[in-house]
Amino acid sequence: MVDGPSRARGQLNTPKTGLLRLMITATLFAVAASFWFLQIYGAGRPQAAPLDASPRAFSAARAEQVLARLLGPEIPHPVSSDENANVRARIVKELSALRVPAFVLRSFACHEVLSYGVLTCATVNDIIAVVRPGQGRAIALLAHYDSVPAGPGAADDESGVATVIETVRALQARGLGSRHPILAVLTDGEEAGLLGAAAFLHEPALRTRVGAVVNVEARGNQGPSLLFQTSPGDGPLIDLYANKVPDYATSSVYAEIYRFLPNDTDLTLFIRDGVPSFNFAFAGNIADYHTALDRRANLDPVSLQQQGNNMLGVASGLEQADFGRLRGGDAIFLDILGRALPRLPAIWALPLSLLAVALLLAASLLAGREPISW
Ligand SMILES: [Zn+2]
Repeated sequence: MVDGPSRARGQLNTPKTGLLRLMITATLFAVAASFWFLQIYGAGRPQAAPLDASPRAFSAARAEQVLARLLGPEIPHPVSSDENANVRARIVKELSALRVPAFVLRSFACHEVLSYGVLTCATVNDIIAVVRPGQGRAIALLAHYDSVPAGPGAADDESGVATVIETVRALQARGLGSRHPILAVLTDGEEAGLLGAAAFLHEPALRTRVGAVVNVEARGNQGPSLLFQTSPGDGPLIDLYANKVPDYATSSVYAEIYRFLPNDTDLTLFIRDGVPSFNFAFAGNIADYHTALDRRANLDPVSLQQQGNNMLGVASGLEQADFGRLRGGDAIFLDILGRALPRLPAIWALPLSLLAVALLLAASLLAGREPISW
């Protein structure tokens, strides 16, 4: 019977030691629970900036106004639909109000979903805007403007398009002192299988123009804007993020989890092409994702603000970055309450894991000397 050893050593289990053990267990539980609570609800999050915030800053209120104009009647606008063309026209209008010249890349693209043996094809219309002209490789600000047929895609990913447009406005207000050209790339047909991104990268003149990418996405309409994916050799990218973004929400563990999810974003294709890349998304309230409830009214302005702070922060870091130095060693990292971002070369992952296992084994061996209590 399992309680044999406990009976043999029963004389140790006095009411006093039992009470002490209960208090230690309760304290450890309280510490773990409050750390979890703080990490979820108390981590550094921005305030949603109002309409009259500094023009050099990203404002969720301004981005929300852009979003309202882009979505208009909030109708689903999947690739090839009439409303898709209407949204595209509204995006081009917003860009021209910022005096940013844009052109539409119209092409036929296909994507094979290997697991189902299905080939999806469509004519896609990507919007490519030259925010800052110039020679050499460009910073690309990336989002997709098509939605799924089921919902109007206010968060996924029209909020991303509004984030790009408000970021462009803020970069202009800061004087566009970039070493590199800047492009806004607003793709079509992402929901049908990354068709717009495939079409963009199929054009050699466009593919070779991109030196770094910042993508903004959504898998829900609330929660922190997470840096959940970066390109390989991400040590310098994480340093740039740590230096330029006000509230951290990231961990190298997210990329590992994302690898096992059935989701994909346009950034997959840019990473496959070896472009240094940042991928941001918020993923709270997943119940509304890809449904008719993905509406403006359900989008959390704080999530929009953090998404914008991330894109603007990282983009302004890239403006002065040497693209040749953006690839280094892989890093492991974890934000602590959004305020600190300890990071180590990935080579430490295995020794640290072994140390954790050894500590757990030691703890269980020590605990084994005492009777097992609840
Ligand atoms: Zn999306």
